[in-house]
Formats: sequence, structure tokens, C-alpha cells
Amino acid sequence: MKKKKLRIGIYSLTSCSGCQEQIMDLEEELPEIVKAVDIANFEMVKKLDEKAKVDVAFVEGCVAKAEEIERVREIRRKCGFLVSMGTCATYGGIPAIRNLHEGWKFEKLVYPDDSMRLSAIKASPLSDYVKVDYFIRGCPMNKLEFLEVLKSLAAGKKPRELNYAVCVECKKRQVPCLLVKFLKGEEGGGICLGPITYAGCNAICPANGVPCLGCRGPFEDSNVESYVQMLEKHLKGEDVKRMLSTFAGTSKKLIKFV
Ligand code: SF4
Ligand code: SF4
Repeated sequence: MKKKKLRIGIYSLTSCSGCQEQIMDLEEELPEIVKAVDIANFEMVKKLDEKAKVDVAFVEGCVAKAEEIERVREIRRKCGFLVSMGTCATYGGIPAIRNLHEGWKFEKLVYPDDSMRLSAIKASPLSDYVKVDYFIRGCPMNKLEFLEVLKSLAAGKKPRELNYAVCVECKKRQVPCLLVKFLKGEEGGGICLGPITYAGCNAICPANGVPCLGCRGPFEDSNVESYVQMLEKHLKGEDVKRMLSTFAGTSKKLIKFV
């Protein structure tokens, strides 16, 4: 008997659409993906059938508008497995920076006209409203990670979780540590969030000489307390907060430090 194809839907809430762009960037693999799975909805390409039932829903973006609460609940009702795609969907991401500032002062600067932000609510991760079965992190997510997750699900397996630090990937690639260089006062060093950040990006930033900014968020077993104590010896309190709040400041592990 012919195996039934996995039916997927790709949806977008408040975001810059950068994660969907990553899928579009899978130029060589996209024709194979289109053949291997049944795509019921792909927001950036074409809204095919937003209300269709799917096996897997990939959702990009956070819930930041009142109407998105019901939308994400509806997506959840129509899918068997829900994947939070990228840092906005997983933590609230950059839109959630506004939650950390009284009276949403940034929003008023960007949208001075009240009518432009009538339905805006606190920017929240999907998991505040619905059950999420798997998280792909990153701002944007890594297209190869998306591919791996899709392959696993198409094979009927749950994708693996990587509960360890970016530093591990740095070591695997034999990248000289930027943080160690910084602490020794050597040239080319920098404050790097790798020790507390979820692996999965293959340490792409440190491997290119740029300290990790923590776009994948703090991993479950990370020792954030001890890392912040180290940061406070080298940076002003405001700079520590700014650094930690860029991508996942509203996450449970970081919120008390930002
Ligand atoms: S991720 Fe950053 S702190 Fe960790 S080993 Fe690499 S450069 Fe060093
Ligand atoms: S190194 Fe850090 S900032 Fe760069 S992609 Fe990986 S998690 Fe994101």
C-alpha cells in the first residue's frame, strides 16, 4: 500500500517572516520537499487552505495582536503536531522587548498614530496559548535544522532535542574561544552568550569571529546565575540587561535578570 504523505501547513503570526525566508532559501531541497510532503498552506508563497487539517503545523512569529490568540488556537485544533518555528514563536523574540518597557514607549515612537496599534497586546510565545510539541529556535531559524525536523517527522519520528550550549559546537569546530580571549584581554575577544545558549546553529557566529548574541535562547540546564555574575564583573548593569533581553529576555530563565 502506498504510504500516505505527511500533510503540513506553514503559518505566520507577528514576525519579520525571516523563518519562512529560510524555507524559501532551501533552493535545492524545495522541489524534493514539495514532492515528499503535501503542503496545505504556506503563507509566504500562497494561502492555500488556512483552515485545512494538517499532520504538522509550523508556526512562525509570536502572538502580539488580539486576533492572533484565536488564530493560533484554531491552528492547534487543526493539527496533530505543532512546531514553534524560530525565536519569536518560542520566546516572543524581538517583538517581546516592548513587554519589558513601561507603557510600550517604543511602540508609541514607531506607531505614533493610535489607530495603527489598536489590536496590539503583550507579545507572547505560542506556548502561552497552546500546547507546542517541538521548538526550532533561532532568529531566524536555521534552514538545515528545519529540514532535519521535517525529515524526522516525515519518517514518523520525533526530532531530537539539543539541550546543551553553543560552546559545545564551538569546541567541535575547534574555534578559539572569544570569551576566553576577552577575559585574557587578547585581541579579537568579546562577551559571548554561547555558554548559556541552545546549540543547533553549529556556532556560526563565533566561527566567524562574532560573539554569540543568544538568538536561540537559554538552554534548559544553563547556569544563567553564574554567567550573569561573570558578566557583571565586566559590564554595567544596563548593558547586561540589554544583552540578555535582545532575543529571549522574557523567557523564564532570563526574565529576572532583565
Ligand atoms: S560559544 Fe562563545 S564562549 Fe562558547 S566556546 Fe564559542 S566563543 Fe567561547
Ligand atoms: S551563535 Fe548565537 S547568535 Fe549566532 S546563530 Fe548561534 S545562537 Fe544565534
